[in-house]
Amino acid sequence: MVSDKTIALDLDSVLADVMQIWLEEYNTIFHTTFKKEDISDWHIYNILPISKEEISNLFITVWKNRWQDIPPTSNDIADVTDQLLDRGFRISIITKRERVTMPFVSYWLDLYEISFSDIVFIFDDASKNHYPFFLLVDDSPINVKEILSPKKIVVFDQPWNRLLTSYTRIKKLNQLINLL
Ligand SMILES: [Mg+2]
Repeated sequence: MVSDKTIALDLDSVLADVMQIWLEEYNTIFHTTFKKEDISDWHIYNILPISKEEISNLFITVWKNRWQDIPPTSNDIADVTDQLLDRGFRISIITKRERVTMPFVSYWLDLYEISFSDIVFIFDDASKNHYPFFLLVDDSPINVKEILSPKKIVVFDQPWNRLLTSYTRIKKLNQLINLL
């Protein structure tokens, strides 16, 4: 079965370190100096005085206008996905997002020459658990908790998910290779 060899990777904050640029934009607009380490809650509005809608709009702006500035979470992520494909795994990128950002995600994946087998854009509130994979790497506490056994979850370390202490955690994508 396809799902037995498919590794699912989240995009934002697992492959693309989008919060770096999101915070640059936020700091410019509000004349602040927040850093990623300050965002210790998945719900950004619990940390910063900004509404849900403004948070989402700023993500859209960043992906539309600054996608070329969004760094990967480390320089070797394309090597990692190449290695996983070489070893016979499938790579499925599964990303929940606003539809308007979709083309810019494709441009970004091309820019960093990231190989993958397929990509799923989720526009509604469907759980990632419904999709075919045996292991998901994600940074969202909400997505992490939705994944049910026998599927496996690996938490990608970010300041907003440090309360998830009972899960396997990686700080860089290349640490995934030793877990397989
Ligand atoms: Mg994410």
